[in-house]
Amino acid sequence: MYKCSHDNCDYQSKLSANVKRHEVVHTNQRNFECEICNATFKLSDPLQVHMVVHSDEKPFSCTECNKTFSREPDLKRHKITHTEEKKYKCNFDNCKSSFNTSGNLARHKRLSHKN
Ligand SMILES: [Zn+2]
Ligand SMILES: [Zn+2]
Ligand SMILES: [Zn+2]
Ligand SMILES: [Zn+2]
Repeated sequence: MYKCSHDNCDYQSKLSANVKRHEVVHTNQRNFECEICNATFKLSDPLQVHMVVHSDEKPFSCTECNKTFSREPDLKRHKITHTEEKKYKCNFDNCKSSFNTSGNLARHKRLSHKN
């Protein structure tokens, strides 16, 4: 096993190359630069992930509203807006509207039920 030479780090690997690659995280060196926005990264993997934001490819689409996202975390965050419990229900007859905030409900009442 090869071990990271840094104190307080217990990273180890069977391959010395992996350890070399890992040790970069202890330096402030950022050798990988995005050619488009000049964002810099210590490792090539995060750069690769980052590059998606510059492409038109948006492989993650919302099943509820067909919005598309280039990154999975963005999709996940967006999806919460669909699943969030809508606990503020309009109490007018024949109105089935419900809202996730009391403010939205109040606005709805103002707009839809003003006599
Ligand atoms: Zn280390
Ligand atoms: Zn970039
Ligand atoms: Zn959606
Ligand atoms: Zn209503």
